[in-house]
Amino acid sequence: MTIAYIGLGSNMNSPVKQIKSAITSIEEIISTKIIGMSSLYKSKPVGPQNQDDYINAVIKIETKLVPYQLLECLHDIEEKHGRIRKEHWGPRILDLDILIFGNEIMVDEKLTIPHPEIENRSFVLAPLIEIDPDCIIPKKGLASDLLATIGKDNIVQIQ
Ligand code: ADP
Ligand code: MG
Repeated sequence: MTIAYIGLGSNMNSPVKQIKSAITSIEEIISTKIIGMSSLYKSKPVGPQNQDDYINAVIKIETKLVPYQLLECLHDIEEKHGRIRKEHWGPRILDLDILIFGNEIMVDEKLTIPHPEIENRSFVLAPLIEIDPDCIIPKKGLASDLLATIGKDNIVQIQ
């Protein structure tokens, strides 16, 4: 059993609905149980600004899957929600990222764990800390220290 954290994001087709429905789908992943959930946060887009605000959340799971299996399940859920992969950092119906997977550290073309952008994203760090205030990110350190460095002015906790 491994503890992992998944980051959810959406800025198209009723983002709040997308995030909630994605959580329902994650609940149905085989050999996986949701054990923690953050509030929803609203944030400005990263990259191109001519797109709507994002809704983000983080969930904590316990899983018997290995990272590639989990990634495949998450990609299936993205696809089921109608995501089409186009512009990098462009608008998306649903983005599901593996943020942390136990103590795993890996870098290859399909999967980087911990997620390479965690320390730059308040919309990931804030919900992560909400679930686990003492969360330590392998290789990167205490999540609350990382959030203190970048600040959280650009996000709003909405529900
Ligand atoms: P991004 O999330 O960076 O905006 P995508 O969601 O389109 O972009 O992901 C592009 C690719 O990133 C995926 O096909 C996946 O193989 C890869 N990837 C690498 N590390 C991770 C991770 N930790 N979680 C999810 N996807 C990852
Ligand atoms: Mg992604």
